[in-house]
Amino acid sequence: MHNFYERYKSHILLEEIGISGQECIKSSRVIIVGAGGLGCPVAVYLASAGVGNIGIIDFDNVDVSNLQRQILYGDKDVGKSKVEIAKEKIERLNSEIKVITYNEKLTSLNALEVLKNYDVVVDAADNFQTRYLVNDACAIIGIPDVWASVYRFEGQVSVFDVKKCACYRCFHPVSPKPGNVPSCGESGIVGAITGIIGSIQACEVIKIITGAGNSLIGRLLYLDALNMVAKEFKIAKDSKCVLCGKNPSIKELIDYDEFCHISESSKNEITSDELNIKIKNNKNIQLIDIREENDKNDLVFPQAATISLKNIVFLKDKLNKNFDAIFVCKYGYKSIYAVQLLKESGYKGKMYSLKGGTLKYLK
Ligand SMILES: [Zn+2]
Repeated sequence: MHNFYERYKSHILLEEIGISGQECIKSSRVIIVGAGGLGCPVAVYLASAGVGNIGIIDFDNVDVSNLQRQILYGDKDVGKSKVEIAKEKIERLNSEIKVITYNEKLTSLNALEVLKNYDVVVDAADNFQTRYLVNDACAIIGIPDVWASVYRFEGQVSVFDVKKCACYRCFHPVSPKPGNVPSCGESGIVGAITGIIGSIQACEVIKIITGAGNSLIGRLLYLDALNMVAKEFKIAKDSKCVLCGKNPSIKELIDYDEFCHISESSKNEITSDELNIKIKNNKNIQLIDIREENDKNDLVFPQAATISLKNIVFLKDKLNKNFDAIFVCKYGYKSIYAVQLLKESGYKGKMYSLKGGTLKYLK
């Protein structure tokens, strides 16, 4: 075991941290929700900083497309459990800390049970269901939520703490519908932005634990790395917030898939195998490929009609209600949105979206 004072000398030298601050870091308990692009740098810096108890929750395995930004994983880790590899790697960085892994999805059923064992939660998730779940659970337990999100060359980060200021719902009360929000897989992301934003999250955690400086509570930091411009926005507590306002309607965890419109859209999904069966059986189907006018990619289904998302409602009077309409697109997000838009426009025929898009279909 290394000498505590030698190992953390650079922290101890800082008057804002000092020996007592480093002791606080050692006895602190921090959980990272999501071991992806943000979670990896957070885990590295918290482990190196000597955070004594680190929890990591994620149910995913390492995919080859993760390696471009998820810095804890390498070629040989593809296919293995993210949390297990993450634990192995950060224990190599610092053998004096305790790492607890949860190889499962954070849900309304386990969130309070898991998160209540920690002093701070780092929301490093990539989806809205988990963001609202983490926010609500942190508010109920009464612990801070160090939140961030990244997109293309951009990142935003803040700290939500209902005891002191706003929650995520005060800032973002309504969940967008799936299909409106492209994922990293769909829109792309520059790897280094996850490193920058994740490192800011780790820095906020250290400040919260030691009480150093001014945290991002009540503020949102936005970074546009393409032009390398940072902006700061104030986040105020909303007295009408359904969670932390004066008359809250949410007092316990809810169904976050339903809140984020996931259940309703997944009901309309069809898998590649199910689609193949329909095609093979010559079922009366009409295939529609959602693509923009300038898209030159080959049609995966040559028999499909093509239409852009902005023109989708014009299909309302053209589709045959007696045939199943099956929408496809590259990633399976636009097609979900197409189904929703037509449903909202009053179209009554059966509609499906190809799950995982043509990309998954071709695998
Ligand atoms: Zn709130």
